[in-house]
Amino acid sequence: MNVKLLRPSEVRRLLPMAECVDLMEETLRTLSRGDAVQPLRSILRLPNRPGLLGMMPGYLGGSARALGIKVITLMPEAQGMPFPSHQGGVLLFEPEHGALLAVLDGAALTAIRTAAVSGSATRALARADASVLALLGSGVQAGAHLAAMRAVRPIGRVRVWSRSPARSLEFATRESAHHGVPVEPVGTPRDAVEGAEIVCTVTAAREPILEGAWISPGAHLNAVGACIPTSRELDSEAVRRSRVFVDRMESALSEAGDLLIPIREGTIRADKIAGEIGDVFSGTLEGRRNDGEITLFKSLGIAVEDLAAARRVYERALASGEGVEIEWGGSAYEAD
Ligand code: NDP
Repeated sequence: MNVKLLRPSEVRRLLPMAECVDLMEETLRTLSRGDAVQPLRSILRLPNRPGLLGMMPGYLGGSARALGIKVITLMPEAQGMPFPSHQGGVLLFEPEHGALLAVLDGAALTAIRTAAVSGSATRALARADASVLALLGSGVQAGAHLAAMRAVRPIGRVRVWSRSPARSLEFATRESAHHGVPVEPVGTPRDAVEGAEIVCTVTAAREPILEGAWISPGAHLNAVGACIPTSRELDSEAVRRSRVFVDRMESALSEAGDLLIPIREGTIRADKIAGEIGDVFSGTLEGRRNDGEITLFKSLGIAVEDLAAARRVYERALASGEGVEIEWGGSAYEAD
């Protein structure tokens, strides 16, 4: 038996953003109809320093039939070093005999699938003519989100804010050249958000960087950072003003500080969450109800997204011959 090792460049080539948006829509529809096994992630925190190891197992039914786990480190102080803040791998198994099929670069896969999930939510929830995009954050997810938003809406203007002005300028210069769309670096989150029709929060902030008072009626928000109960990117007013959707209800009620903190404060109740985006995709839950409504998709990121993406990349790599194959498995013990 062989296992395929798939590099970051191969993951990126074999998983184009627009196709991944469709794949994530199908994946979240499958999850919401219950054809998946999706435990909550486990987190190992490092002693005496920030940083964690996240373990994300899952099984996805439907046409994907993907079993596996993503294991990823998150080092929030990676800036300025040659390491990205998220690193790791996805182990993809086949569910019939349990054989390991592939090991894929987890950072590249995470970047694309996360933005593609936001793309699928935006396609369902944002106004059809939404063209002004605000990005809060200028890291890996900011770049991937710009690509995803362009895949689903006619983005004509982009404003980016980042904690470090130098990094927002660098982002704006690089991405406007890459996409051929004007990307303007701005000095405050408010400057980015006021008048924006789509807002993506993609930072490692622990305290709110987005105030509800700044959001224009009819805007759509993707809240992507803050994946633990004690951190948030949005203030309570932003959540209170929005019709709220999540990737997965159980995860949101366990992990999403953006929702759990206003619930604990008493600003909103848990039933403020309209439901899972997969149910909007399947037509069993109403999405946007009118042009003035603010819609919010709170993304936590779940293993079935990684596994569906891994399965797609693996199948493409089998067809194209990409990746490195090594012999693996077989008899567990053989006498020498
Ligand atoms: P990067 O490390 O590439 O970028 C981090 C960004 O966060 C930078 O723009 C940085 O700004 C900004 N930032 C860091 N600390 C703060 C702070 N205290 N206040 C405001 N901004 C801050 O990370 P990624 O782009 O890969 O990830 C962004 C976020 O998305 C993270 O929180 C990550 O955990 C989360 N994530 C969520 C996923 C999901 O599925 N929902 C999946 C993957 C990631 P600057 O450089 O200007 O300092």
